[in-house]
Amino acid sequence: MSERSWTAVDEYVESLFERPDPALEGALRDSSAAGLPAISVSPNQGKLLHILARAVGARRILEIGTLGGYSTIWLARALPTHGRLLTLEVSPRHAKVARANLERAGVSERVEIRLGPAQETLPALVEEGAGPFDLVFIDADKPGYVDYLDWSLRLSRPGTLIIADNVVRGGSVVGGGLDENVEAVRRFNQHLADMPGVLGTVLQTVGVKGYDGFAIGLVTG
Ligand code: SAH
Ligand code: MG
Repeated sequence: MSERSWTAVDEYVESLFERPDPALEGALRDSSAAGLPAISVSPNQGKLLHILARAVGARRILEIGTLGGYSTIWLARALPTHGRLLTLEVSPRHAKVARANLERAGVSERVEIRLGPAQETLPALVEEGAGPFDLVFIDADKPGYVDYLDWSLRLSRPGTLIIADNVVRGGSVVGGGLDENVEAVRRFNQHLADMPGVLGTVLQTVGVKGYDGFAIGLVTG
């Protein structure tokens, strides 16, 4: 199976299940126009996050890594009327683009963007007694992932679903590779596997964003 065919199948799946969506398309367009990197989740991955959030009945969602708010929109739309999503972002420039995108999508009432390095905003959340969150989506700098998982666990309850993006990296998690991001996600995957009270796995993903993976952890107690 080649990259060309999995991209075609990803587009086929999208054409089956998705309809034109001005808010999501506008978010990608304006993120690109503002010079943000094209590293948001794919449409089908966004849909998967949305379905998972609804499947667990998420009322409170934590996201680490907002970028232009594309995944944020998918997740925020899964929330019930009084649901809340908190998303952590280090870049004021990214947050500004995200704010406009969330506004256009009509979800800004439900979403708070917290600015700052997640290494600081996560401990602050624990300090202020935030959470427990029902779903956590980790998608920021990879060297931070191990710490983000630890903090996420402290903001969780049994039943919380923790998802982390980009943990396969074109397959380079297996075999050599001295890249700091590869090393970081290897440490992350190992940490997830060793964690007591969390049932974990990694789902490989292929499609328009290439070959990568979602780590999934269910907090059991
Ligand atoms: N979840 C987004 C993509 C996020 S890209 C989507 O799928 O649409 C990763 C984001 O993490 C970038 O916007 C980057 O600025 C942010 N980031 C990087 N390091 C960070 C840190 N230490 N704390 C918080 N955010 C960080
Ligand atoms: Mg990602």
